[in-house]
Amino acid sequence: MRYAVLDRGDSLSQGLAEKLHRLAADKGFTHDQDEPEIVISIGGDGTLLHAFHTFLHKLDHVSFIGVHTGHLGFYADWQANELEDLVDRMATAEPFLVRYPLAKIELDTSDGKTDYLALNEFTLKGVNATLVAQLNVNDELFEMFRGDGIVISTPTGSTAYNKSVGGAVLHPSIPSLQIAEIASINNRVYRTLGSSIVLPEHHHVDIISKKEQRLLLAIDHINIEREDIHAIRCSVSDLRVRFARYRPFPFWNRVREAFLGYDVR
Ligand code: NAP
Ligand code: MN
Repeated sequence: MRYAVLDRGDSLSQGLAEKLHRLAADKGFTHDQDEPEIVISIGGDGTLLHAFHTFLHKLDHVSFIGVHTGHLGFYADWQANELEDLVDRMATAEPFLVRYPLAKIELDTSDGKTDYLALNEFTLKGVNATLVAQLNVNDELFEMFRGDGIVISTPTGSTAYNKSVGGAVLHPSIPSLQIAEIASINNRVYRTLGSSIVLPEHHHVDIISKKEQRLLLAIDHINIEREDIHAIRCSVSDLRVRFARYRPFPFWNRVREAFLGYDVR
């Protein structure tokens, strides 16, 4: 088995990465940072986001595994003291592969069009002033937005920024995008729905910039600032990210353990 490792850079995560290399060598695995079959992220959900964007162009051949060195993660579900168990299972068992939906973001700027993929979400905000944008759903005017920003999340991203702005938590078996508002202004000119909406596959939302404005775009942890954005189209991508599961950990158990603190295992 060819594997790659990405760690968060702190001493605990680095130490675990070294231990993982030793355990993997004992099992005859090949360390390959360029063409791995398995990518192991050691750190937090943020580390897994880095790993995802590092191997973005190899999603067809790569499965991810997350080990957490802090609190329980949504993508990182193995604990530091379970590393031997994980490597044993990798050597002896076939993983169950789960595939999670991704968001496709098509940016239309003065330089032309660029595509991005997000695992958690795409966020749009104004830099110097409130964001002013028209939202079209499936090519028809939906609303005129004015406010702090918009968060468009994947189902697995629904527990991240989306949840902080009052969005619903969606099960990752529902291929969809959730559009949530951040502090919208509502008056006679600007009127938004107020609640978040969930778009299924094959629907799209266009965000059309309605004035000269400097915008902050965030694709997961990656921030971009531009003042030449014409429009942005978001939809559920045809691509999926694959996670290798060597034991079940149902999504609703993660939600319960991460947010409510009950551990029933
Ligand atoms: P960060 O500021 O370190 O992350 C913010 C927190 O979000 C961390 O606790 C992170 O967990 C957690 N997180 C990431 N993905 C998650 C998921 N799918 N479900 C539940 N929690 C999740 O920055 P980062 O580590 O680079 O992560 C970037 C993410 O931060 C963005 O994708 C966005 O979702 C989130 N964010 C949240 C807010 C907010 O809630 N107000 C604002 C900006 C960004 P770890 O500690 O395990 O990394
Ligand atoms: Mn983080």
